[in-house]
Amino acid sequence: MMRILAIIILMFAVTECKPQSKDTEMKEHKHNPYYSRTDTTHLNVTDAEWKKILPAEVYRVARESGTEYPFTGEYWDSEAKGTYYCAVCGNKLFRSTAKFASSCGWPSFFESVNPDAVNYWPDNSMGMSRIEVECARCDSHLGHIFDDGPKPTGKRYCMNSIVLDFEPDGK
Ligand code: FE
Repeated sequence: MMRILAIIILMFAVTECKPQSKDTEMKEHKHNPYYSRTDTTHLNVTDAEWKKILPAEVYRVARESGTEYPFTGEYWDSEAKGTYYCAVCGNKLFRSTAKFASSCGWPSFFESVNPDAVNYWPDNSMGMSRIEVECARCDSHLGHIFDDGPKPTGKRYCMNSIVLDFEPDGK
């Protein structure tokens, strides 16, 4: 009897300790009161608050300007039709129609969904001169923009998958 009880407790513990996938966490956003796909009001949330809310890897990229390893993110080679939102705040950022196959290993777009979706900042870190791209609603780091993209804009928004939330068309 005790052995059965121990097995049941162990099974429960294993289930409880199983790490949630990024998908489950990010799709539900149940711990994130700031997430909205309709409210475009600019957010002023401290990093200390974001740290309590966001999954560690999302926080590292979004709030500490981290970069995921190339060819590892969920969306770098995705050709699915739909919309990409900020995984931190829900702001609409990119349409799949502006996504192109890039050999860089990160999801790449030639334009944002509208000019107000993102902000640009000079970034001279890591011994390079680059332009950083931030979500305009929550000021989270998304990636960088380069001038080697395809027509019509010639731009390449080189983004981190972990800070993007994809919603397929027709859902
Ligand atoms: Fe955002």
